[in-house]
Amino acid sequence: MKEQNLILHPDAHWVKVDQDRVQLRQPDGEYITFDKHADDIINALIALSATSTNDIEIDESISNQIKDILKARGLLVDKYTEKQYQIQRLINQHGISGGKVYPGKNPTTVSIIGDGKLSDLVEEALVNAGIEIVGNDDFKKTSSKPPLLLAICDTDDHTFLKKINGIGIQNNQPILFFRWVQSGFKLGPFVVPGETACLDCVNQREIASSLFPDELKAYKSSNLSNLPNYEGGPVLDDLAKALITRHVITILNGNYDLSEPATIITINPVHLDIKHSPVIRLARCQTCSDLNEAPLRALRDQL
Ligand SMILES: [Zn+2]
Repeated sequence: MKEQNLILHPDAHWVKVDQDRVQLRQPDGEYITFDKHADDIINALIALSATSTNDIEIDESISNQIKDILKARGLLVDKYTEKQYQIQRLINQHGISGGKVYPGKNPTTVSIIGDGKLSDLVEEALVNAGIEIVGNDDFKKTSSKPPLLLAICDTDDHTFLKKINGIGIQNNQPILFFRWVQSGFKLGPFVVPGETACLDCVNQREIASSLFPDELKAYKSSNLSNLPNYEGGPVLDDLAKALITRHVITILNGNYDLSEPATIITINPVHLDIKHSPVIRLARCQTCSDLNEAPLRALRDQL
């Protein structure tokens, strides 16, 4: 980043408290108060903001100190190359350290599997956000990094979801599930094969902890034709697009603390309730554990 192209993060602002003090308010909710030189600091901030004019008198020493503080906090951005979307800027800046990012591990493209209304909406939303969508078999030919596999359906189609879960685990590629269940959206789990719970881990744990395990088992194992389907329309379509786009951005960015692997997120569009339910990986899951490669348990191991 060239020094002269750096500007103050557009979502940061400041408040003059009194003659001496000024408070810098960061977009992640962290605030810093400076006890002295309020006017000089404000002038330095104005000069760094996108709307700056050149006729402001600046104390070079204070301006340089402010730049160092802003740089350390990720509050100086390049005015030409900074992502223009406000949500992207906010995601990049969340948390004091800008969040935990795992570069290199995260996928960079997306592959969508699904053929309902939600699937079409998701494709439209991701294209609008500038996210690259690829065919799911292309990466095998080029031995490139597998895309994030998005499994989308208009109802709780267990056969379909289970199949995609198996494909993702087999290809060792990350998977994100998104579907309409009864009267709300269900997002997740975001599966990182070999590291986090897969969809089968989730199903088995749900059945094990249910008060009505037989009913739940029947619900999850049979092909029900009477489940409510996603119809969409105003509010729901936009909500669906926003939810999936935000989640995919956090995964592609490597902000795994925000994309919450191994968590089921249920969204009630009527009450605007969002529930996050983490799921622990099942050690002996038939789908995602290395059960098949592990040696058989010997009786002596149990003594
Ligand atoms: Zn599993």
